[in-house]
Amino acid sequence: MQIILSSNNAKKIKELQEILQEFEVRSYRDFLDEIEVVENGKSFEENAWLKAEAIFAELKDTLKGDFLILSDDSGLCVEAINGMPSIYSARFASIQANAEEICKQRFAPPTQAQSDEENNLKLLKCLEELNIKESKASFVCVIAVCGEVGGKRIERVFRGVCEGKVIQAPLNPQAFGYDPLFMPCGYEKTLDQIAEKNKISHRFKALEQFKNFVCELC
Ligand code: IMP
Repeated sequence: MQIILSSNNAKKIKELQEILQEFEVRSYRDFLDEIEVVENGKSFEENAWLKAEAIFAELKDTLKGDFLILSDDSGLCVEAINGMPSIYSARFASIQANAEEICKQRFAPPTQAQSDEENNLKLLKCLEELNIKESKASFVCVIAVCGEVGGKRIERVFRGVCEGKVIQAPLNPQAFGYDPLFMPCGYEKTLDQIAEKNKISHRFKALEQFKNFVCELC
């Protein structure tokens, strides 16, 4: 069974491939030019579907045999800022609003992705504006899967959550996303310093459910 990833994010793809190492995993870019899907869903689930279905539509007539298109929509939800940046995690720094306005949902939905560094700085600024040193937070990963197995159309969604807190910590240009600011429950280190991230993360937890589903299919 072929698994085709719908992501354009190199750091996310690396983690997905590591966690799914027992499968034949390829990027959609092995078949197609880059596709920029407009993520205008209102939840991780909706955005994960938008990405999975866009690639499914492009590849369904090209791929031979059993295949699954796998899409990951993920982000960080910080309690002190009313669960944000959530589905806007990759675009957080383009929100033109201060922490108080963000808490009250008074901002235009951002469209432009920003660098990890800018998004981290925006989160630190929000904590500073609210005069908060740390806050409970959770990483969420939703995996949407659609494809064809044994001639049947498959559509499934899986969700994994990693609980912890965000803290004021130094940035790390090598790290993925908000990892340098997030300390998972049970650890005294931020996620970028934890070697076994791919065995405890939100992504790992969602993909464990996906792997069980694939076992039942085969
Ligand atoms: P998406 O590509 O629209 O799903 O946006 C994902 C964004 O959420 C990334 O660009 C990161 O900012 C953040 N994110 C998701 N998963 C992780 C993770 O495992 N570590 C750090 N940041 C993450």
